[in-house]
Amino acid sequence: MEDKIIAENELGDWRRSHYSFQISNSVINQVVTVIGWISSRRDHGNVLFVQLRDRFGDTQILVKKKELSETIFESLKSLKEHSSIAIRGRVVEQKNSSNEFEIMPEEVKILSVSNKSAPFLTQAISSIGIDTRLDLRAIDLRRNHLQNVFKIRNTILNSIRGYLSDNYFVEVNTPKMIATATEGGAALFPIFYYDREAFLAQSPQLYKEQLTMAFENVFEIAPIFRAEPSRTNRHLSEAMSIDVEKAYVDYNDMMDYLDNLIRFVIQSINEKNQMELKSLGIDLPDMSRPFSRITYSQLIENLQNSHKYIRWGDDISPKLLKDVFGDEFYFITDWPASTKPFYVKSKKMDLLTDSNTGDDSHVLSESFDLMYGSLELSSGSTRINNKVNLMDNMKKKGLSHKAFDYHLRVFDYGVPPHAGFGLGLERLLMAILKLDNIRDATFYPRDIDRLTP
Ligand code: ATP
Ligand code: MG
Repeated sequence: MEDKIIAENELGDWRRSHYSFQISNSVINQVVTVIGWISSRRDHGNVLFVQLRDRFGDTQILVKKKELSETIFESLKSLKEHSSIAIRGRVVEQKNSSNEFEIMPEEVKILSVSNKSAPFLTQAISSIGIDTRLDLRAIDLRRNHLQNVFKIRNTILNSIRGYLSDNYFVEVNTPKMIATATEGGAALFPIFYYDREAFLAQSPQLYKEQLTMAFENVFEIAPIFRAEPSRTNRHLSEAMSIDVEKAYVDYNDMMDYLDNLIRFVIQSINEKNQMELKSLGIDLPDMSRPFSRITYSQLIENLQNSHKYIRWGDDISPKLLKDVFGDEFYFITDWPASTKPFYVKSKKMDLLTDSNTGDDSHVLSESFDLMYGSLELSSGSTRINNKVNLMDNMKKKGLSHKAFDYHLRVFDYGVPPHAGFGLGLERLLMAILKLDNIRDATFYPRDIDRLTP
């Protein structure tokens, strides 16, 4: 059957008078203007039930043939889900509708007609592959499931900004087009910068450290860009990083900060998102105790009991951690300096006694990773603030002093002792909402296979 062409109206001077949640006893029998998109419809011949969705939820519209013009009624009847309409109508009580009211339209404007049936509707879907959804992401994002996820993401961002501002942090922005890598070149995206090669910033690390000179306590919430060649469910090419840096503290203080920050975030979600949590079927993590802390060396020793091949100095794979830790937050501290970037401060006198070879291979660092189960959420450390030590470390890591001249010159003017961390926003959301795929923790994911939409 050929689809009828339905005329669209201009919005003109029509404006919404009430959101769905404002349709209540206080407006009963009044005429309101509600606007939104059709999330579902039931056709009973001469009567049509339309669920009109706005950013808070659905309002039921009861459309009766005899009360509207023939053209309008027939148009409404043939409108597909996702079409946008505006209704002026009277609010009446309706015990059977989701919010106990419905609207009897007096005037209708069809604002935007959906010509196609979307491959997925508003209900949860399991059989449709993520690529089909991502190809039509804006429509996908209309689904309840993702609406709930992104409302909670919003709470996370607001609560982090609130918490850090209340603790005397200044929100900063640092350049995303940069001249040199912060952690070695492998993961960089090169770009054209006029007549030169430049890179997309893989982290705001050096800039946020410098800014502790001027502002002491700084944070930035911004994208980081990493050319991650592997296809995993926990890496994006463009991710949001919550970067925090503070003067006159060390990594232990920053672990306390991070623990408290996440506690505050969970508490905020608990206060603001009960409906979303219920709909997602999520119980928030147990936050009754401070996050446990285990040193890297201790963890390696534990792992060696069951995995003889593991060596001190190895990175610890998520697969190994899965067997040891359940769904809980914990810190792995004091990593080998060799596994951490050049700006991370080494621990004094902390050579492993049983394997002290006199070389640098067993030097520990003042560092931590915050984990949730087997997922890394954050890395942090005390940073080197002494120029000579920093230059030494760069040399050990094979980095050229010249390339970092713009950074090193600041250290001639007394960079304060400082520490900080970078926390992945999508990883945090994955942990709290138990999402399997990081792609559903961001709006338009970028990965090795995807550069659109
Ligand atoms: P991983 O070992 O999981 O690849 P990393 O140690 O390389 O992470 P860091 O450089 O420590 O990452 O970055 C700090 C935080 O930023 C990480 O703990 C993580 O939460 C987040 N992050 C880093 N890279 C990515 C990425 N490609 N996609 C999503 N989040 C990321
Ligand atoms: Mg890390």
